[in-house]
Amino acid sequence: MAGARPKVVIVGGGFGGLWAAKALAKSKVDVVVIDRQNHHVFQPLLYQVATAVLSPGEIAQPIRRILHNYKNIEVVLGEVVEVDPANKQAVLGDGVRVSFDYLIIAAGARHSYFGHDDWETSAPGLKTLDDAVEIRRRVLLAFEMAERDAYLQNRKRQLNFVVVGGGPTGVEMAGAIADIARQALAKDFKAIRTADAHVVLYEGSDRILGTFAPELSDSAKQQLEDIGVEVQLKSFVSEIEPGRVKVGEDWIDCDVVVWATGVAASSLGKKLGVETDKAGRVFVEPDLSIKTNKDIFVIGDMASIKQADGTPVPGVSPAAMQMGEQTAKNILAELDGRPRKPFEYNDKGTMATIGRSKAIAEIGKFKFRGFIAWLMWLFLHVFFLIGFKNRLAVMTDWFWAYLTRERSARLITGKAEHMHDAIEFLQAARSRDTRSKSKTTV
Ligand SMILES: Cc1cc2nc3c(=O)[nH]c(=O)nc-3n(C[C@H](O)[C@H](O)[C@H](O)COP(=O)(O)OP(=O)(O)OC[C@H]3O[C@@H](n4cnc5c(N)ncnc54)[C@H](O)[C@@H]3O)c2cc1C
Repeated sequence: MAGARPKVVIVGGGFGGLWAAKALAKSKVDVVVIDRQNHHVFQPLLYQVATAVLSPGEIAQPIRRILHNYKNIEVVLGEVVEVDPANKQAVLGDGVRVSFDYLIIAAGARHSYFGHDDWETSAPGLKTLDDAVEIRRRVLLAFEMAERDAYLQNRKRQLNFVVVGGGPTGVEMAGAIADIARQALAKDFKAIRTADAHVVLYEGSDRILGTFAPELSDSAKQQLEDIGVEVQLKSFVSEIEPGRVKVGEDWIDCDVVVWATGVAASSLGKKLGVETDKAGRVFVEPDLSIKTNKDIFVIGDMASIKQADGTPVPGVSPAAMQMGEQTAKNILAELDGRPRKPFEYNDKGTMATIGRSKAIAEIGKFKFRGFIAWLMWLFLHVFFLIGFKNRLAVMTDWFWAYLTRERSARLITGKAEHMHDAIEFLQAARSRDTRSKSKTTV
């Protein structure tokens, strides 16, 4: 480090990495942000892309653009596949090595299929823009195929959407699919009644949104049922095949399955040679560094750390942002000869949206439901959207969708072969219509 400016390498330009980089901007260190994608995604709004309210460009921004004002920050497109702590280097997929004085790993998490990774093709999860566009394609195609069957073959059948997992993403997805079926698409389809589409949410535990107070979980369930979603509690999906899922002893036919449960932290964590939890999150020290190397930090969804009351710091964006900022401050403090401070999560409350004018929010001891909670959710999410242009575009689209119940991003896009795959998948669902075990009514 002598003479040269210290170099901080940040893996991941998500919430944790970006907030760390911003806190190091214009400081005495050089920063390199490495991400395998060129853009930062505002994940809390991914479900709105998956359900055709917003376009991908409205919830994402090039990382290079976000950080373009800071001369001490460089952005590199690449995937970090390994860390070499002894030589203080991060190794990229093509073998290129990037040296660091400090390393901040913020590579996030994906869904876990609990050892059944083959389910992903049939039941995509929602994590990236590609996932959102794929789910949008499947949802919109399901309606198109049903219309085609009804019009060309006079064959009417129930459209079934299954969402697995009653956490915030599952609840948002189920509510949004019910919303588009009942509202946005209703007038555009002539041979089918889109509002008859059946949306079912399966949750393994005895309530949805289990991190909220029980009365808010109950309210969320009621709000979902009010918009026509069937909520099945204590229901585990134990198998998934194209066009159907198994719940208990029953096979349930479905046109689209969305997977919204389980967490698998980036595999980079396990490669550090330190202890991880079952989900692959790294048990970090109080200052978020790893046990074996105080110059390597793991933050955000990849980190496992407890709050003062013994509960785990949740895998949410405010936690990742606060970890990023705290790590940056600790690095700068150490370079100034001051001690590092332990990370303390400042919980400002949580909220989850359920559909048009429907949400729940828990802020300290205050609990909100329905329209007020939805307004709070809406303004908070627009406030945190990166980039003024995005905020304006998103506000305009939401306002339009709210007034007209229209959806502006309803294009089915993709290469012909992808479209063909999706159609084949749907055909598997349709060909099962007559199966005797099925609960589906045709
Ligand atoms: C659908 C969905 C909805 C959500 N809704 C909410 C919500 O409403 N409120 C809330 O607070 N939180 C929400 N979350 C959780 C929140 O988004 C995460 O907690 C947060 O993004 C974690 O930040 P992170 O920096 O750890 O990881 P991420 O934001 O996931 O960023 C990880 C980054 O690392 C990059 N990367 C991964 N691996 C590598 C590699 N090997 N090399 C280089 N780059 C790599 C990725 O491309 C990505 O840019 C939601 C998450 C999802 C998926």
